[in-house]
Amino acid sequence: MTRRGKTNERWVREVLGDRDYEEFQVFKKIKWVGPFSIDDLLNNCLDDSSAKPPESHSVYLVSRKSWVKHPSPADLPLYVGSTTGKTSRFRTRIGDMIIDAFGFFQDDTGHSSGGISLHQYCLENGLNPKAFYVGWLANCGCTRCAEYYFWDFLKPMLNKNRPPKCNEHRTWKDMYSAIMGGGITMGIKGRENEKAVSLRCSAKAG
Ligand SMILES: [Zn+2]
Repeated sequence: MTRRGKTNERWVREVLGDRDYEEFQVFKKIKWVGPFSIDDLLNNCLDDSSAKPPESHSVYLVSRKSWVKHPSPADLPLYVGSTTGKTSRFRTRIGDMIIDAFGFFQDDTGHSSGGISLHQYCLENGLNPKAFYVGWLANCGCTRCAEYYFWDFLKPMLNKNRPPKCNEHRTWKDMYSAIMGGGITMGIKGRENEKAVSLRCSAKAG
């Protein structure tokens, strides 16, 4: 960073205060992929160049509205979800959510509480889940911290329970740096996703 850049950073920290400054870093460094309408995700399922959720270390958001770069509470967030622990089932989790959002379950056979809530919400409001948007983090460090943070920030309408807080990173400072742990330098998968997204965007614009 140049000297002027450093002075600017110091100025931003002074204006925002320590905590908001650290939070601002999370926003600068964490990358979201999408959002894509569920309709587009399904239509492009056979297209290798279309973005697909990673296998782990991510958090997804389902919203009523589309958004650019970062989702906000104004985009009608419906559900924030993730996988716990070290499983490699993140993409499968999103699949489970989509299956249930379309109502392919019976009383005790649902796959995803988020998907079941989305289906109920569709019935109550006369909506088709195809029109909802899904986006996910390109990569994050501690998944539990990231899920909690984005749940708290976005206040999604349909999460029935607060996600459990992380036992490892208890202060806000630890939480922010744990979220960015894998996000500062995006992994290959994140870059691939980004490339796919920009390809899709330019294809759409053309
Ligand atoms: Zn954590």
